[in-house]
Amino acid sequence: MEDQVPGKVSLVGAGPGDPGLMTARALELISRADVIFYDRLIPPDALSGARDDAELIYVGKMPGTVHNPQEEINRRIVDAAREGREVVRLKGGDPFIFGRGGEEAEELAEAGIPFEVVPGVTAAIAATATAGIPLTHRDDSAGVAFVTGHRDAKTEQGIDPDGSLALFPGTLVFYMGVKRLAENAADLIAGGRPADQPAAAIQNGATPKQRVVTATLGTIAAKVEAEGIRPPALIVIGDVVRHHSKLAWFGNRPLAGRSVVVTRARHQAGKLAAMLRGQGADVIEMPVIEIQPIAPDREALDVFARGEIDLICFTSPNSIDRFFEVIGEELEMDARDLSTWVAAIGPSTARKLKEYGIRADIVPDRAVAESLLGKLVDDGHADKRILIPRAQEAREVLPDGLRQVGADVTILPLYRTVPVSPEPEVLKKAAEADAITFTSASTVKNLLAAVPDGLPGLVNVSIGPVTSEAMRKAGIEVSAEAEQSDLNGLAAAVAAALNCEPGEAEL
Ligand code: SAH
Repeated sequence: MEDQVPGKVSLVGAGPGDPGLMTARALELISRADVIFYDRLIPPDALSGARDDAELIYVGKMPGTVHNPQEEINRRIVDAAREGREVVRLKGGDPFIFGRGGEEAEELAEAGIPFEVVPGVTAAIAATATAGIPLTHRDDSAGVAFVTGHRDAKTEQGIDPDGSLALFPGTLVFYMGVKRLAENAADLIAGGRPADQPAAAIQNGATPKQRVVTATLGTIAAKVEAEGIRPPALIVIGDVVRHHSKLAWFGNRPLAGRSVVVTRARHQAGKLAAMLRGQGADVIEMPVIEIQPIAPDREALDVFARGEIDLICFTSPNSIDRFFEVIGEELEMDARDLSTWVAAIGPSTARKLKEYGIRADIVPDRAVAESLLGKLVDDGHADKRILIPRAQEAREVLPDGLRQVGADVTILPLYRTVPVSPEPEVLKKAAEADAITFTSASTVKNLLAAVPDGLPGLVNVSIGPVTSEAMRKAGIEVSAEAEQSDLNGLAAAVAAALNCEPGEAEL
């Protein structure tokens, strides 16, 4: 039998914990891998782009436990590659910075297995950028050293046996530096580093849970202890730390330190989640609905195919994607066949149309059916032949109103929303959040189907009047409503409702 050609192993850095700080190369390799061995400190959604049939294997160690010794991990990686599989070994931060990536690469080289190393944003780079501490600075630091806070296991010596680290002319960043901080700081002072030099500890850097405390080399250990700073944390020692008070931007973002629940369908949640994260929020994605395509009504489709339509009213971005999918598949038509007027209910629907190269002719001031109806009547479109591609269970305000003023309306239901029950652990996190967002009446209905009492104690934020009405009817108090009924408006309303003080623990 011929020997199996070994697959390639990629040692991939996943960055410090923010999905946005993963490299394009990392995402590409994750999306192609047959098997992924991953650590504990990788970003929450790091594996969401993996193939459905990929094997995902957790090999992380919990601090203080002897779980999955390194040789065992190495052996499993080598075995997987020898089976001809494409392997990703995903590690927090950078694989070659205190990540044992060097040892794993050596093992692969010895075993003759092809490998690639993909750098990641290491914790020291990420956490100091977010804490507003420039690692080098023309006035304050001519260099930077990344140092382990553990003492050498073999020699049992301290971190600075000959005092050379103390005299390093630049910034020192300690990884794994919390446990032995008091001894290490004392060693550095004994070696000649000034006790009054500024120092900082950054916990969960570059994530929504980031905490920063500052002190001096002489006092940092006591401060870390008093404030309960825990791993994963970095200790930064050097004059550059004094820039933090001016440059701290991350913890000053409007939603820093706040957690917000997003209830919309998973495939739609990304944009709102990213907007809220961009403002500093810890986002809990808890989809309560899912969009399911339904087979189009042939008769309604034929009316369009025969060109017997003067105006198409799009009432959601979903209906646009699905409409073009359906006319492509069923009629072999595309955007060029829309020789009609086109109306969009609001700005996000109009933006979605632009993706298909179509400029909406009609967009009302407010993104609700009543406003669209009013505008169509005012602009003299009421006597037209109108097609409304939409959800199966949409409100009848628009078609009924149009028919009343003499329009010939064809409804084309293209999808429906079905309820999804959240996982218990997601629900538990959601119950402890600060705010919850509702983006449609169906998110309201289906949240209550999953959690009959709703989530008491949370600030309830609505995307617009129709959703607010559904909330009130369901007995959910509307804490805030978006002024502009779109995702930007909603994100702004969340920030306003939580009347955001800067959230970072500035201790
Ligand atoms: N390879 C990783 C480091 C692994 S060692 C990297 O390049 O970042 C684990 C140590 O990294 C932790 O003890 C802590 O000191 C540091 N660390 C990892 N993620 C961190 C984060 N988000 N904030 C602060 N420190 C972090």
